[in-house]
Amino acid sequence: MEKKQFQAESKRLLEMMINSIYSQREVFLRELISNSSDAIDKIYYKALTDDGLAFDKDSYYIKIIPNKENRTLTIRDTGIGMTKEELENNLGIIAKSGSLAFKKENEIRDGHDIIGQFGVGFYAAFMVADVVTVISKALGSEEAYKWESEGADGYTITPYKKDTVGTDITLKIKENTEEENFDEYLEEYRLKSIIKKYSDFIRYPIKMDSKNR
Ligand code: ADP
Ligand code: MG
Repeated sequence: MEKKQFQAESKRLLEMMINSIYSQREVFLRELISNSSDAIDKIYYKALTDDGLAFDKDSYYIKIIPNKENRTLTIRDTGIGMTKEELENNLGIIAKSGSLAFKKENEIRDGHDIIGQFGVGFYAAFMVADVVTVISKALGSEEAYKWESEGADGYTITPYKKDTVGTDITLKIKENTEEENFDEYLEEYRLKSIIKKYSDFIRYPIKMDSKNR
């Protein structure tokens, strides 16, 4: 299977994410939840103009699934999903390199002032994960795909089976080091407090399905 390369800008942002300082790592969850919320918004707005598409409030939600045994954290949404092309175009290329341009302009070396304040996007996942897997099925599509990356050396896209429209993003949480604790991102109470801190305003339900017990 061919491994595709990230574009140069994306690669640099990725490196910045991977090396970011501890106190900022928690914002990865804010970024992923905001993407899920945007994806549900897209179905919501589509339903306003498309008579064939009903927006039944109860079917749209974001679910956070920590699994200590597998050391994974999954962010699931019932949003609009991504086609193969969208996985390629939206995740393989940094859509908005605003924060990178900002960093360059201000010659901030370690990214200290940026990550906490600005939307840094999908790549924030690599602050806490060794492997990021995105399984997605787009609205109106028969097929689903799996996008997977271990960071700077690229990503793969392969067909995958998924029955429902939406996206599952699974993070293989990094092992603890002497200085840093990553286990906390598998703890329900910790995740709840991050959600409260950054994602309190999200309009869709954020559920927790703990596989920790
Ligand atoms: P931004 O949200 O600012 O566009 P991101 O890096 O956060 O940038 O995300 C890049 C793109 O990837 C999004 O614009 C969207 O098209 C796509 N995307 C990311 N997560 C999801 C998701 N959960 N569902 C559907 N599309 C997504
Ligand atoms: Mg985003």
